[in-house]
Amino acid sequence: MSDSKTDKQWQAELDPQTYRVCRLGETEAPFSGALLHNRQSGYYHCACCQSPLFYSDAKFDSGCGWPSFDRPIHKDAIRYIDDHSHGMERIEVRCQHCDAHLGHVFDDGPTDTSTRYCVNSAAMSFQNQDNKER
Ligand SMILES: [Zn+2]
Repeated sequence: MSDSKTDKQWQAELDPQTYRVCRLGETEAPFSGALLHNRQSGYYHCACCQSPLFYSDAKFDSGCGWPSFDRPIHKDAIRYIDDHSHGMERIEVRCQHCDAHLGHVFDDGPTDTSTRYCVNSAAMSFQNQDNKER
């Protein structure tokens, strides 16, 4: 399953920051994201295709400057890609559905999953659990 939108369509549809992060693989400035300190209960969706990625009970404050989660909402929500850029060995995480760049995953998480998904705020949209508009 893949989304066949062209780069031009994404650019027209997404706000510039989301476009740069999700489609060009850029990283937002640390401590800048709107969802970093969000403590509400609800779902974090892909900002591009609205697929659910994380649930709020997996979110924790890692102090790294980006929203952090200890597990995805389900195994198939996320794609993993070896990232050798910037002279580092990292694992990039992308939306399984539309291939949007989300962030990276590390194995130094403080919770029992030992996993830390470090995700750009701009790559996600948040929906309250009660489904009401914020
Ligand atoms: Zn997506």
